[in-house]
Amino acid sequence: LDEVKAVDKEVAAAIEAEMARQNSHIELIASENWVSKAVMAAMGSPLTNKYAEGYPGKRYYGGCECVDEVEELARERAKKLFGCEYVNVQPHSGAQANMAVQFAMLKPGDTIMGQNLAHGGHLTHGSPANFSGTYFNVVPYGVNDDGVLDYDEILRIAKECKPKMIIAGASAYARTIDFKRFREIADEVGAYLMVDMAHIAGLVAAGVHPSPIPYAHVTTTTTHKTLRGPRGGMILSDAATAKQFNFNKAVFPGTQGGPLMHVIAAKAVCFQEALQPEYKEYQKQIVKNAQALCKGLMDRGIKIVSGGTDNHLMLIDLTPFDLTGKEVEHLLDAANITANKNTIPNDPKSAFVTSGVRIGTPAVTARGLKEEDMETIAEAAALMIKEGESATEKAKALVKSLTDKYPLDM
Ligand code: PLP
Repeated sequence: LDEVKAVDKEVAAAIEAEMARQNSHIELIASENWVSKAVMAAMGSPLTNKYAEGYPGKRYYGGCECVDEVEELARERAKKLFGCEYVNVQPHSGAQANMAVQFAMLKPGDTIMGQNLAHGGHLTHGSPANFSGTYFNVVPYGVNDDGVLDYDEILRIAKECKPKMIIAGASAYARTIDFKRFREIADEVGAYLMVDMAHIAGLVAAGVHPSPIPYAHVTTTTTHKTLRGPRGGMILSDAATAKQFNFNKAVFPGTQGGPLMHVIAAKAVCFQEALQPEYKEYQKQIVKNAQALCKGLMDRGIKIVSGGTDNHLMLIDLTPFDLTGKEVEHLLDAANITANKNTIPNDPKSAFVTSGVRIGTPAVTARGLKEEDMETIAEAAALMIKEGESATEKAKALVKSLTDKYPLDM
């Protein structure tokens, strides 16, 4: 930070404060993680100086021989990691990957089906606030009263609306997704199946969640979240589909300009880490921790949507406590636990208020916490939910016992 400090004291101070915040808080935001120092160093490398519009071997700029090598390494490692024939590592984010795929495979006015945002889906799967909900005719599907996907109901909706594309994948869904069943539904109605595995990509890479690759026409992901790489996106498919729809052209020049070569280098480093045996253990531990945290909360009388979790996250249903997600997000924050308010299925409250909180374990697992530590987090969170502000000092002390035990190496 010394170089930043010498030039800009204000930004340096904000970065230092953020580092202290990360170290003193328990991070339960399900989409966040801590990258390795190697990933961080690649992101902060001089590759940020390089323009490289185009693809390896076919660039619109000179001097690309080194970054070509980096992009090839990222692509080859991602193909090996996920077992697919085609990868594009250039999308700047998950939203950009989804936009490029929809730009390539759809025309304005086409019908798409995606998981309702209010039932755990993502904005880019057809929300009216997003381009996907503006350019396409969206028929959403949701979860049933138990909080789980009902595939017969999804088939019924698909038969009725005959979508050009079905999007599977979610931002707040705690159960295993049956990608084979989604493909059968897509085939029955003649739709393309796009899977957005952003949240579960790390679990998929480690074989802890079934892979969508054998079933989806195309798969998108973020490279942060469970995958534990830099912030960014990626598109994966078989070679024939990639050629048919020209996903490369849909990314550049279709929806983006020059690729972020420093971020692509960090993606390559992340994939190298993900190919190591320890990574499988890390991903398995994420799920063990999520299940331990879920049990700890349920044992303390906290209701969880769908009654459990198969992956890295869960949704707390606050309706029995007459509390909103907004209130509980603030209560947890007071105890140095970071989480985010989230709508629960059929939530009567708006997305700014909500009746739920989403929590997940990728970041605490990266920090080294194990199942027994989840009991401590469950106790601290349950205290805040059930006793409110009066429990703050007690809950904060529990959090501090963990942050002291597992200091962050940043
Ligand atoms: N897809 C899913 C399922 C997500 O949960 C998210 C982010 O929350 C995205 C896409 C978008 O990723 P980004 O924030 O990188 O655009």
